[in-house]
Amino acid sequence: MRLLALLGDPVAHSLSPAIQNAAFRKTGVEGIYLPLRTGKGDLPGLLRGIARAGGGGNVTLPHKESAAALVEQPLPAVVRTGACNTFWLADGRVHGDNTDVEGFRRALRRLLGRDAAGARVLLLGAGGAARAVVHSLVEDGVEGIWIRNRSRERAVELAETLGGGRARIMEASPTTLSEMDAVVNATRLGLEADDPLPLLPDEFPPGEPACLDLVYAPAETPWVRTMRDIGLPAEDGGEMLVQQGAAAYERWWDGPAPIEVMRDALTKVRTTG
Ligand code: NAP
Repeated sequence: MRLLALLGDPVAHSLSPAIQNAAFRKTGVEGIYLPLRTGKGDLPGLLRGIARAGGGGNVTLPHKESAAALVEQPLPAVVRTGACNTFWLADGRVHGDNTDVEGFRRALRRLLGRDAAGARVLLLGAGGAARAVVHSLVEDGVEGIWIRNRSRERAVELAETLGGGRARIMEASPTTLSEMDAVVNATRLGLEADDPLPLLPDEFPPGEPACLDLVYAPAETPWVRTMRDIGLPAEDGGEMLVQQGAAAYERWWDGPAPIEVMRDALTKVRTTG
């Protein structure tokens, strides 16, 4: 029986245990997924100890950057984004990946009905999740990424380090934007009930972009609801959560994840709490 642990603080609210344990039950792999509230000082020992004992797991806030420095074999997504959310042992070394990159890619592809090659994307936010988004989009060959963030310096740094010459900063006036294929919310706006919307309908670029909110809530997020009300295709972060979990499952078990079972588990845990 392998232990797959979620290391972070807090972790009690996480939906990942329900999603992963449902997948483990479905495929019959011998594993159990547990959330472990982990302080900064305990992270190195837990991450390496669990992996060396044949297990693995995920890493969440606030430890994704620290985990990137702890794994012995970081995959390219970890090296590029500076964050690790998945670890396991292979060939005697602790491997690390950032499956937020793959999770975002698969979620956007599902919403757009195609991959992001040649797409024009407006990205709201420049934190850890936004780094995964930019890396994924650049790998997929987007035409351009326009970044808007509360603190402009962070957006500039993101565009310069990961943008691959395709990212630029969205200046104050949105009228400088032409048509976008997608708008992605990678800010924290939407986590709290009284948050303002990350982008108002009248700030929208021309056209009918698909809207992907990385924030997820028990029901649809306020931004997703608003975008659907004005007729735009919109999804919250639930699909990305499932898809990053599916990519992690594939790293641990070296086989395909039962994606429908994982989606159903998310729906169930969201509706029953
Ligand atoms: P983070 O590194 O802390 O970055 C937070 C981002 O939100 C920054 O761009 C920050 O702007 C912006 N922000 C925070 N408060 C704001 C406010 N009051 N007004 C405007 N902007 C504000 O967090 P993260 O890890 O990137 O996570 C961002 C969101 O993505 C979270 O809601 C998280 O749950 C979600 N997420 C979802 C998945 C998924 O699988 N669905 C995966 C990862 C993350 P500044 O730079 O100016 O501070």
